[in-house]
Amino acid sequence: MEWKPRTELGKMVAQGAITLDEIFTHGKKIKEAEIVDRLIPNLQSDIIFIGGSPGKGGGIKRTPTRRTTRMHRSGRRYRTSAMVVIGNGDGYFGIGKSVAVENRVAIAKATENAKLNIIPVKRGCGSWECVCGSGHTIPVQIEGKSGSVRVQLFPAPKGVGLCVNNEAKKMMRLAGIKDLWTKRYGESRSRSNYAMAVFDAFKRMNRLRLDSRTPAKVAEKNYEEIEEEAE
Ligand SMILES: [Zn+2]
Repeated sequence: MEWKPRTELGKMVAQGAITLDEIFTHGKKIKEAEIVDRLIPNLQSDIIFIGGSPGKGGGIKRTPTRRTTRMHRSGRRYRTSAMVVIGNGDGYFGIGKSVAVENRVAIAKATENAKLNIIPVKRGCGSWECVCGSGHTIPVQIEGKSGSVRVQLFPAPKGVGLCVNNEAKKMMRLAGIKDLWTKRYGESRSRSNYAMAVFDAFKRMNRLRLDSRTPAKVAEKNYEEIEEEAE
């Protein structure tokens, strides 16, 4: 299907007049998912499992979508929510949520929202045990929040891998982060808040002014300043 851009930015992208890097350095807002399709032809996606149903023999079996029930005069009404992460596995990723009556529709809408939420991923080697200088982890320690969940992300030395839960692993693979440590605080059952908190940390990182080797202390100070701005 041919794409007919509806926005100024869309037209520029269709003409090949702007790159993804330039969109972010100029602070432009992406309002058409096709922009991302066009600029990242090898875009990949994954579903964050936000649902759960009681498993056999206790525990919770994780499911891709979350079903909510609501009573109506004519009986129960079901709706499905889905969360999708997209990325190129090399420095760009986004996350999106959506609700619909059908699973398939919820996932498609969440994928589109993820494309509209795409951000660049700041990578580096902020691990004092490694200091290799390559972009296998994050440049500084950072924190993110969503609802009652707070996560801290720590740079990890090369070869440690992703010491995070399965859902965050999906996100980090699509973001292009290979080594990472995390710590979480707050309500632990909400996978969707956890994923959003991790994403929030990367958004905050993009607002930090980082030199190639910003000491962790300086980054923490920046973080406090950002918090004050947000309030
Ligand atoms: Zn390193």
